[in-house]
Amino acid sequence: MADGTAKSMTVYKDKDGGARLDRPERIVSAASYDDDVRLDASVRPKTLNEYIGQKRVKENISIALEAARNRGEALDHVLLYGPPGLGKTTLAQIIANELNVPIKTSAGPLLERKGDLTAILTSLESREVFFLDEIHRLQAAVEEVLYPAMEDFRVDLVIGQGPGARIHPFHLNHFTLIGATTRAGLITAPLRSRFGIVHRLDFYEPADLLIILHRSAKILNIQMEEGGAEEIARRCRGTPRIANRLLRRARDFAEVRAGGNITRGVAQEALAMLGVDESGLDEVDRNLMLALLDKYAGGPVGVGTLAAALSEEEDAIEEMYEPYLMQIGMIDRTPRGRVATPRAYQYFGRELPRRQPRLF
Ligand code: ADP
Repeated sequence: MADGTAKSMTVYKDKDGGARLDRPERIVSAASYDDDVRLDASVRPKTLNEYIGQKRVKENISIALEAARNRGEALDHVLLYGPPGLGKTTLAQIIANELNVPIKTSAGPLLERKGDLTAILTSLESREVFFLDEIHRLQAAVEEVLYPAMEDFRVDLVIGQGPGARIHPFHLNHFTLIGATTRAGLITAPLRSRFGIVHRLDFYEPADLLIILHRSAKILNIQMEEGGAEEIARRCRGTPRIANRLLRRARDFAEVRAGGNITRGVAQEALAMLGVDESGLDEVDRNLMLALLDKYAGGPVGVGTLAAALSEEEDAIEEMYEPYLMQIGMIDRTPRGRVATPRAYQYFGRELPRRQPRLF
């Protein structure tokens, strides 16, 4: 929603109680599973040097870090945006680590009342990092607490009740807020303007995914050939979290069926068994594309209609499924709705209609 207020939606629960937008059984979901949480601890990079790819973001952050360290000041507030699983949380933890300061973590939907946020802000130490995930899901009233906190390091406490109530400014330590969002378009202008450093994380290049996969395989003691790594890199939707998950599933398959070594053939078989195709698409993607191509004649069709046809949430389509389908050129977003691209017609073996919308 354009005004950035939280709205009701179906949210699936992880086993650890975490919230996720898409279906829990989805192997190529960029959302985090409890399995991932355990694995994350061992393979998550801890320093900027270990953080693979995202060259431009890394360079900029590295300069900002050095300048803040030299001045002995808190780093400017940072906003990181981009699809899930691309390394926003990891980067926030690295920033705190590189600054040698503690980090506190919360998420927009967890902060239900102003007091929840105020309690965290007043507890922050000087230069401490406060990582706020899903910042676009903050309630409007809670978000307003952030404005003076970010700008003047102040929260306004209301003391007393009724006509005698007074506002008492409380001065905070100079901290760094790192906000993360999958939906930059839903961040309100007043919030966005208070971030000094704003970066978008992009899907990873295959070469970077190969480095990430080999690094994880080494840490987890997994035997994998270059061909195996290439197959996983090609099908992990440009997303490190999915790369690491597919690596684990391929290892299971290799151990049970192929003596433990992930060769190209083993990776191909393991991923095919999981229903992940050549381009990393799974059944949900295929259903979405086939609905668009067959039911709605290639579009344009509104995302709401598409969501209803698939019994999915609009937010799940926009946040979890669509970004990758757009990235690989299967779907275009137009003012009149979603349209299938010529590549989609070809990929799904459909004949391109004679009269194409003027978009191509
Ligand atoms: P996000 O917060 O954007 O959803 P995370 O930071 O939790 O994503 O990243 C998911 C996992 O992917 C991490 O635990 C880490 O193992 C891996 N990962 C992410 N970015 C990188 C990177 N640049 N280099 C290596 N591994 C990464």
